[in-house]
Amino acid sequence: MAPDVRSDLDAIPAYVPGASAPGAVKLASNETTAGPLPSVAAAITDAASAANRYPDITSRTLVERLADFLGVGAENVTAGCGSVALCQQLVQAVCAPGDEVIFGWRSFEAYPIIARIAHAVPVSIPNRADGSLDLDAVAEAVTDRTRLIFVCTPNNPTGPAVDRTELVAFLDRIPERVTVALDEAYYEYVRSDDPVDGVAEAMARPNVVSLRTFSKAYGLAGLRVGYLVGPVDLVVPVAKMVVPFSVSSLAQSAAIACLEAGDELRARTDAVVAERSRVRDALLDMGHAVPDTQANFVWLPLAGAASDFDAHCRDHRVVTRCFAGDGVRVTIGDPDENDRFLAAAREFVTGM
Ligand SMILES: *Cc1c(COP(=O)(O)O)cnc(C)c1O
Repeated sequence: MAPDVRSDLDAIPAYVPGASAPGAVKLASNETTAGPLPSVAAAITDAASAANRYPDITSRTLVERLADFLGVGAENVTAGCGSVALCQQLVQAVCAPGDEVIFGWRSFEAYPIIARIAHAVPVSIPNRADGSLDLDAVAEAVTDRTRLIFVCTPNNPTGPAVDRTELVAFLDRIPERVTVALDEAYYEYVRSDDPVDGVAEAMARPNVVSLRTFSKAYGLAGLRVGYLVGPVDLVVPVAKMVVPFSVSSLAQSAAIACLEAGDELRARTDAVVAERSRVRDALLDMGHAVPDTQANFVWLPLAGAASDFDAHCRDHRVVTRCFAGDGVRVTIGDPDENDRFLAAAREFVTGM
């Protein structure tokens, strides 16, 4: 007889990672194309020589540097094994079994998975036709069982960001007993007239946290380190849910080195932003209804043609991220990579 395991495992979807193929251009996981800066690579090498020792369990130095960098107290920050781990810790910290976690859909595919892992109930609210979050509908979906709302801005995989005016109106409608998590994994790529600063919102309200990561703009996806900023009454419970020592010493050292590199890494996002306009404009010219994007990717709402488009790109040695029946997300790479993708996309259109 097999051992008893949870009876609800079939209801927990598997996380599908972006694919890669040898020799192909990988535009499937919203990574940066360039490797770590030399100073960051050196910090990783130094940390490797002390890998026989356990890491600092609270990532104290990193948390202090982040607090300085963000202008908040160290007690308002906690580090995690990627911000996805902090999403999971947050659900575990605020939800009892059967409590509801609301998010727009389509959005970050980890939300329904981590809600179920924590025995909570995922509630997904359809996005607007332009791929933006429908915050009115999200607010209306709050019930007595709601404990947590994820607001992914910019939204992965569709691209639009929430405006600050819209966010403030939304937050004003949410009861303070409900936690709102602003998932700002792509914060550094936002260039809007009315941008959200999740850290400022989190410091101004008792029920708001901001989640950010070193995986995207800072280029450390392989090392796994992110952080959560918010009121102490939420930071302490979230920190309590951490898997001990899950932020490795290499990750802590590399993240500190990224912060010490000053504006060098953030300046790289300007190139991505310029390329994202170029790629989006080219796709619009081809007739694709690509939503506005404030992140390092574009969304092609291909519906029933998504899988064919994805396979066509793969045949042209470009790996994209397909959500079958819905759309294809394509990361903005360097100009050569983007040209290879656009050439493939052009042939798909003419081949239809
Ligand atoms: C990539 C991503 C994350 C987190 O990534 P980590 O590598 O775990 O830090 C979180 N939220 C969204 C929406 C993302 O796209």
